[in-house]
Amino acid sequence: MKVYISVDLEGITGSTSWQSTNLGDPEHTAVAAQMKAEAMAAAKGAIEAGADEVYIKDAHDSGRNIDITGFPKQCRFIRDWTNSPDSMLGGIDSSFDAVLFVGYHSPAGFDTNPLSHTMNRGNNYVKFNGQLCSEFLMHAYYAAELGVPSVFLSGDKALCDHVHSHDPNIRTVAVKEGLGCATINITPEEACTLIEAQAKEAVLHRNKCHIDLPSTLTMEICFKDHYRARRASYFPGVTRLDAYTVSFTGKTVAEVAAARMFIL
Ligand SMILES: [Zn+2]
Repeated sequence: MKVYISVDLEGITGSTSWQSTNLGDPEHTAVAAQMKAEAMAAAKGAIEAGADEVYIKDAHDSGRNIDITGFPKQCRFIRDWTNSPDSMLGGIDSSFDAVLFVGYHSPAGFDTNPLSHTMNRGNNYVKFNGQLCSEFLMHAYYAAELGVPSVFLSGDKALCDHVHSHDPNIRTVAVKEGLGCATINITPEEACTLIEAQAKEAVLHRNKCHIDLPSTLTMEICFKDHYRARRASYFPGVTRLDAYTVSFTGKTVAEVAAARMFIL
């Protein structure tokens, strides 16, 4: 059995400041160590459930946050970026049996994590078919189109609720909650214990998870800068809705993901 684990940073236990998200910043070190611990916990859970190939994507910023030493031998690591529409699931294909998301965060438009954003900090929101869209949903849709179920997510509490609004069977672990510029966190050790246990259950019961794909997908992006909307409007198929907002409609998730790669 082959599983894919995508690991972001802004939903890792303890991550709170933008400084802590930057490789090289003194505040980044502890958060990156916890990224590693939570990725390791998810990998162990998946292996206990029978996975014998575990691909771990470092999916934050540089893609080079996690120290890859010391993992179980079933693990493979995808570092840096593949420059393809699968993005935070770089290299995924239909040969995978499940996707797990670790360290994911609330999307732009939510006030439930001081580090809320969607793909980058240049937009006020991204919507899919009129609803605020998270990085989780973008990538869960991408995997679903390949026939790969999303089975587990850890991150902030509001994102866990958002995940359950799309599929109540996805196992989640809320490691923190945002309150203004602050976060309220569980202990890093407890986070790892819960992630390992829930990742195991999630992979064992992976066939219960299913996200319905819409027949057409309209992506709306509201940029913080009007000139970015102008630039995006020159991409084939993009409609400019107002000074700051554009939309693109595709028949497949892959088509929308390819457009997103160039305009967002
Ligand atoms: Zn990130």
